[in-house]
Amino acid sequence: MDEHLVLWDVDHTLIDSLGLGGAAYRQIFPEVTGQPVREPALMDGRTDLGTIDQMLRSHDIEPTGELVAAMTAALAGVFDEVRAELAEKGRVLPGAREALATFDGDPAVHQSVLTGNTAEVARIKLGAFGLLGHFDLDIGAFGDDHLLRGGLVPVARGRAARKLGIDFAPERIVLIGDTLNDVRAAHESGARLIAVATGSYSADELRAAGAEVIFETLPAPGELRAALG
Ligand SMILES: [Mg+2]
Repeated sequence: MDEHLVLWDVDHTLIDSLGLGGAAYRQIFPEVTGQPVREPALMDGRTDLGTIDQMLRSHDIEPTGELVAAMTAALAGVFDEVRAELAEKGRVLPGAREALATFDGDPAVHQSVLTGNTAEVARIKLGAFGLLGHFDLDIGAFGDDHLLRGGLVPVARGRAARKLGIDFAPERIVLIGDTLNDVRAAHESGARLIAVATGSYSADELRAAGAEVIFETLPAPGELRAALG
């Protein structure tokens, strides 16, 4: 049996949380640093560690371990508070529940996330929409595991090897995501990518960045399964 490790991006691939991420950064930055926000937090498929690093540096603040930890904790605190709002105003993207349920029932698919969200925020977001049960989060990788998204693929691979006893060859690892950073992460690690143009990038932009399999929106489960190879 050819088994696959399917690693889902969260924001704009599975769910839309209506800009709450940007709002969270605007709230925590002055709280943690004591300085006003002058430059926006850049997310866009970055890891939260990457976003925090960029945001601190763009304000000429050295990203010390202590500050980064304080920002990470504050971020989780904000999302914990907006859990109900998230469920109420955000949405699960079309096709996501069906695709997740189909992979759940497929013994050749091991399903987790590869997300820029920290592990704590990912749990809050997925939990808010009732999606947590679809994932083995022990074999995923998160925005507090590495500064760069490409660095998350080996993290997930290592976790899957330890827990499942399967060393997935890179071509058996499939990322599903919506940004140029998802494309880059796949190319850097040798993983495969299924791109969806449900975020801020068009199918043409994803193609120009080197994505080979692209859908406008998540396709019907059978089509997505076929795209795994
Ligand atoms: Mg995304």
